[in-house]
Amino acid sequence: MQVKNPTIKRTKLTFLERLYLPEILKGMAYTFVQMFRPKFTSEYPEVKWKPPGSFRGRPVLVEREDKTGERCVACGLCARACPPMAISLQANETDLPQERYPITFEINMLRCIYCGYCEEVCPEEAIVMSDEYDLNYTSRSEAILDKEKLLVPMERVKARLEFLREYKHAVRKADAQYVGEEAKP
Ligand code: SF4
Ligand code: SF4
Repeated sequence: MQVKNPTIKRTKLTFLERLYLPEILKGMAYTFVQMFRPKFTSEYPEVKWKPPGSFRGRPVLVEREDKTGERCVACGLCARACPPMAISLQANETDLPQERYPITFEINMLRCIYCGYCEEVCPEEAIVMSDEYDLNYTSRSEAILDKEKLLVPMERVKARLEFLREYKHAVRKADAQYVGEEAKP
């Protein structure tokens, strides 16, 4: 069977288009105009970008407000929710009102995909995605962050916590509205 070659329709170029020069000049004029427009780039790393609260950077453990340790109660939900199984922890009992705490808590940053599931499931606002994006490790072991490296004061993640509270409130409101609509006869 003979296969017909498909016909390609070509647009005919005008004389000016065939010269290319007007198009080159148009491109140069556009570049020239851009030089006077506001810049959206910065001189990284000299100038660091400050991410907004909605940004998901490296996950961190949040310290209690009275600075007596981490807010984490070692429930293990974050480790269960983490898709690449980057979190590992060991629970222990304590005399503090929270009753439990993690004796060890590690996040393998070579596995972390910055999904934020750990933060979403945490009932204590104990694990939060920080605004840190400037990360580098020189060995595999260096990329496994232990409790001491993960722990940060609450003020460091204030913007993120505020964003999360607003976000969770909006989700709950939308859910309630949806349930209300469903219940209508
Ligand atoms: S951000 Fe995602 S991948 Fe990273 S530790 Fe949390 S759940 Fe795991
Ligand atoms: S979900 Fe929160 S409280 Fe539970 S183990 Fe993870 S960080 Fe700790």
